Formats: sequence, structure tokens, C-alpha cells
Amino acid sequence: MTDTRPPHGGTPTPTDGAPLISLTDLRLTLGRGAGAVDLVRGVSLDVPQGTTVAVVGESGSGKSLTALSMMGLLPPGVTVGGGDIVFDGTPVARLTEREWQPLRGRQLGMIFQDPLSALNPCIRVGDQIAEMFRLRAGLGRREARDRAVESMVEVGIPDAERRARSYPHEFSGGMRQRVMIAMALSLQPRLLIADEPTTALDVTVQAQIMRLLIARKQARGLTMILISHDLGVVSRSADSVVVMYAGRVVESGPSREVLTRPAHPYTVGLMRSVPDRRRPGAALEAIPGQPPDPRTVPSGCAFHPRCPMARDRCRTEVPALRPVGPARASACHFADEVVGGGANLPETNDASEVSGHV
Ligand code: SF4
Repeated sequence: MTDTRPPHGGTPTPTDGAPLISLTDLRLTLGRGAGAVDLVRGVSLDVPQGTTVAVVGESGSGKSLTALSMMGLLPPGVTVGGGDIVFDGTPVARLTEREWQPLRGRQLGMIFQDPLSALNPCIRVGDQIAEMFRLRAGLGRREARDRAVESMVEVGIPDAERRARSYPHEFSGGMRQRVMIAMALSLQPRLLIADEPTTALDVTVQAQIMRLLIARKQARGLTMILISHDLGVVSRSADSVVVMYAGRVVESGPSREVLTRPAHPYTVGLMRSVPDRRRPGAALEAIPGQPPDPRTVPSGCAFHPRCPMARDRCRTEVPALRPVGPARASACHFADEVVGGGANLPETNDASEVSGHV
């Protein structure tokens, strides 16, 4: 088993709250039999109550698939190939669709990257939110309608009574995402999973939506998992961060520490590839190459073909995720050199100054 937890147990976070959701050696597999491919390869993490854990990585790292598995929403053909997901003490990884339904909305809410595809284009927005209250909370038509409008007010949609009668295409991207947040929070879930909630929005609206999410999270004492490309957003909103590469966790720890003193060359590369406000106009340093195809993951450390520090050992020996300080872990053979600054890697940007997508 690949246990990504540090010695004290659980993904490192600044608090010691009990985990609301835990993943243990989770494998997510595409296909069956000889042709099966692991897309997520043994991820373990804990999300303590009331905290925000960010999961970052390039496209194809397995972060969004991991998020979907926590809602029982894996795409067709992808199954839980091993390990477990425990939500509030209950194993949920192998629930049937029927068993998942009472959990979604009431216990777990999800916000997707593209609200337009998540909303029904033919149904008025107010009716879509009201439907959540009618079907999942058993409210009558009138009361559900009133609660829908209240939810829209709560997420800052002006003139909510009138806008409730509009269709999704009549809203701007930012307002549509507010509608999604209203829907996701309507039944007061305990865990909110936000999968790239601001990626499709312009920069000003991104900031507004993140402020709204954080405000709602704090007002309701929610636990949040934030899947994001945006290290600036992560640095401002997450208590801890989990960095994924090629279906594995390669680094984890308190976000401020990970994003100021990363302990894995991949995290260093992510931080160098986003703009630094202190150096406007400076060239970005993209990580060379591409993430690997899950069918042909490189031997040893999967990052070795792209890593500026790779040595012979990296090509043959898979690095275990191991502690690199209090509440921190890294899956690099030479993590101590990276975090100690002796690895001759480019200097990283300050977490509070980076902004943008990796
Ligand atoms: S184990 Fe080797 S290849 Fe992998 S990140 Fe560390 S130095 Fe780079």
C-alpha cells in the first residue's frame, strides 16, 4: 500500500480536527482485465472538518477524477480498483448509485468548472434550485420556490425574485457559477467539493467567486476540497495542499509552507510556471515535456523525464511519500535538498504573489 500520510496520520493540515473524509490507498481504474489502466495510483489523504484542502496538478494528474470519486460520480468505464473512501466513518467507495443519492446534496455538494453544462438549459434557474428542495428535502412547491430565491440572495444574485424566472443562458458566467454554488449549498452539505470553480471566468469574476465561496464556507463551517490549477487561489484560500502527478500524491503539507518552500521539484516547476506579480512581464518557465500517458508511466519516479534534478536512482526506484518536516511529506528521493534550497533549482515565486493557472 502506498500510504501518503505523514507519521502522525492524515494529509498534513494546520489543524488536528477529525477527518470528515479520508481516502486510503485509492486506485481508480479504467477498463477491466489485462487492458485495465490505473488513472489514480494509490492516493491517501484526510480532510479534517472545517478545513480547506486544495488538490493541485496539471491536467491528467488525476485530481478531478479523485474529486469525482468522492461524489460517486466516476465516468463510465472507471471504477474503484482498490483502496477506500470513508466519509464521516462510513465506507462509501463501493456504494451503489441508489446508495449515493441520499448523500449527494445533503452531505456532499459539488461545484463544477462549467456551470452551463451542469445546468439544464430548458428549465428556469429558480425552478432548478427549487427542485433540489422539493425532491431532496420534501418541501412543497411554494416553500421550495421561496427557499430557492433565498439561496440566490445568499450567493449575491441581485434582483433574485426576478432572476429566478430566467434561463441559464440569460446569466453571465460569474452569475451562473453563483447559481451553481446556491444549488450545491442548498441542502446544507457538510463537505463542498469545488472542481476548478473559477477556471472558466475572467480574473475579476474569479476573485469575486472565490471570496463568495470562502465566505459561505466560513459562515456555515463547511469542509472544502478545492481542485485547482490556480496556485494564487490555493495560496489564498486553502489550509493545506496536496500536489498530484501521474495519479499519485507527490507532495503535501500546509499550503503556506508548500508554496513558499516546496519539497518536490514538480511543485517548484508548477510555481515557476505561473506569473509572479513582483516580476511583471518576466518570462514564465513552463515545465518541459508533458505529463505521462497513464498507459506508459515512466519507471522509477514518474516525473524523472521532466525533472531537472533526476539522477540514476530516479529512473529505477519509485520514491515513497515520506515526512520532510512537521506535517509535510514529499515523494522525492532528494526532498531534503529541494526544501533546503541546495538542489540548484530555480528560485520559486512567493505563494502570496503568484497568480494564474498551471
Ligand atoms: S525522485 Fe528524482 S526525478 Fe523524482 S522528483 Fe525527485 S529528483 Fe526528480
